[in-house]
Formats: sequence, structure tokens, C-alpha cells
Amino acid sequence: SAKLIKGTEIGEQILEEITGEVAEIKKKHGVVPGLVTILVGENPASMSYVTLKIKTAHRVGFKEVQDSQPADISEKDLLALIEKYNHDDSIHGILVQLPLPKHIDEKKVLNAIDPDKDVDGFHPVNVGRLMIGGNEVKFPPCTPAGIQELIVRSGVETRGAEVVVVGRSNIVGKPIANMMLQKGKGADATVTIVHTQTRNMAEHCKRADVLIVAAGVPGLVKPEWIKPGACVIDVGVNRVGEKPSKNDPNKMVALLKGDVDFEAASEIAGFITPVPGGVGPMTITMLMRNTLRSLKFKLGIK
Ligand code: NAD
Repeated sequence: SAKLIKGTEIGEQILEEITGEVAEIKKKHGVVPGLVTILVGENPASMSYVTLKIKTAHRVGFKEVQDSQPADISEKDLLALIEKYNHDDSIHGILVQLPLPKHIDEKKVLNAIDPDKDVDGFHPVNVGRLMIGGNEVKFPPCTPAGIQELIVRSGVETRGAEVVVVGRSNIVGKPIANMMLQKGKGADATVTIVHTQTRNMAEHCKRADVLIVAAGVPGLVKPEWIKPGACVIDVGVNRVGEKPSKNDPNKMVALLKGDVDFEAASEIAGFITPVPGGVGPMTITMLMRNTLRSLKFKLGIK
């Protein structure tokens, strides 16, 4: 049965590495990476994401700022706030938690972030840099970067491999496909992207040495679509019900499933990521890495 790719453990290991680097830079240069998260309104999911990001930033030794704004903040005021952080020398990463309230133009807000502090990597300048590849890349978007890191650290060879990506979103499908076809480690692949308009999705998936699934449809990928020995990366996070909490059996928590039938797929694949505990924990880890990268670019450290 398949080797489990444990994102929780790999993510922990990378956070340790980041903590070490931050301490070293602090000693040598007297500065630490600074991350600000801007949260508008009180969406519970957004609040818990932001709390986790801030907690992780604190843990690795960053300066962390949580800037919470009321849901009725005007677009103009939000843009002015971003401009303030664009010019704040102690801040190296600016993150605006999405979604934003309806009266605010999300695109306008994301485009206002200084591309050199855009640690989410969503600014068109960074999307362009990613497309060009190589040394041009400043901030690879966090979820795709996490996927690539999982593949590399699991020792899965991608050079010349058939990589099939299910999904074409701007935050997962398109960027990971683009990253896998660049030159270099954890890339150099032959890439196919399949989506809702694809004919014969099964035939494409069956060819995949590495199958990356980011559709948001539970059970979309059938076990018989998986090539024996393939590496299966399941990005999907679907709430399919509730289950009693491990810590407190009287409390119910979300029951999460991926886009792949995990049990059956484990019998066929060579490597597989679980949901939860696979790709999920890597996203925040990569946000930390991008914020550290931002400071390193500024200091001219390779
Ligand atoms: P999205 O809805 O923006 O995009 C989904 C893509 O999948 C679309 O391009 C669509 O064409 C394709 N698709 C949907 N149904 C399909 C089908 N039946 N057949 C073929 N293709 C189909 O979603 P997203 O933002 O890319 O996220 C995808 C999944 O990954 C979601 O479950 C999301 O929760 C999860 N996700 C997880 C993380 C993480 O773990 N950190 C981060 C981002 C997204």
C-alpha cells in the first residue's frame, strides 16, 4: 500500500528550519521578518485562518501584526491602510484575508499590495514572475509551493514524468501546473491540466505518474483512474459531515474528505497525501517561508 506523505510532519520540519534562519538573521542583521494580516469583518472561518497564521508567525520568531478592520470599512480606507504597510520598513509581508465584503473590489485591493511584499503571490506581477520561472520567481503561491515541497521531500522524481493536474483555478490548478513544467528540481515534468470541460478525464488521469487533484468534489477521482505506483496529491478539502472531536467526544467537529477515495486509492498509489494532514498544513508553512524570503531579498541574502 501507498507511502503516506505526512504534510503535518514535513510542515513542522520546515517551520523548524525557518525558526533557525530567522534567529541567525536576527543575530547578524538585527532584523526579523514582519508579517501583517489584514482582516475585514468577522467571518468565523477567516478569523480562525488569521489566528493560525499569526500564531505560526509568532512561533517562528517573526514580528506579527494582526490588523482587524470593521466590515463597513470603505474601499478607500482599506487601500490607504495597504499603502501604509507598503511603506512600513518593519513589514515584509502583507496578507489580506479573503473574502472581502461585497462593497470592496477584491482585485483592486490585491493589486494595491506592493508586489515585493505580496507573500501570497497573487499580484499580477508575481503571477508573471512565476510564469517566467527561474530566478524571476519571488513568491510562489503558498498552496502550490507546499505541493511541490511535499513531492520533493518525499523523493518523488518529476523530471520527464507525466503530471496531471485536475482543476484550473488561479490559486491552485494553474500555478501548480506552471511550476511543474519549469526547469529544475521538483519540476521538469510533462504537464496536462484537466477541468470541467475535459473529455475523457479518466484516460488522462490514468497516464499520470503524479496526479494532483484540486477540484473540490469529494470522491471525484476513482481508484481505477490511478496508475499503479503513482504519487497522488489530494488538495481537495470537502466538509462531508460531522464527527466527535478527539479531545472532547461531546463536541462535534467537521468531517473532512479530499477529492480522492483515500482508502481505495492507497491500495494502488505509491505515494498519497491524507486529508486532513496532507497539503493543508503546508500552506501556512509556505506563507512563512515567503515572508522570510521577502526579508532575505531585501537584505540581499541568497
Ligand atoms: P475552485 O473551485 O476555484 O476550482 C476548482 C477547479 O476544479 C475548477 O477549475 C474546475 O474546472 C475543476 N473542477 C471542478 N469540478 C470538476 C469536475 N467534476 N471535473 C473536473 N474538474 C472539475 O477551487 P480551488 O480554490 O482551486 O480549490 C480546490 C480544492 O482545494 C477545494 O476543495 C479547496 O477547499 C481546496 N484547497 C485547499 C487548500 C489547502 O489545503 N491549503 C488551499 C486551496 C484550496
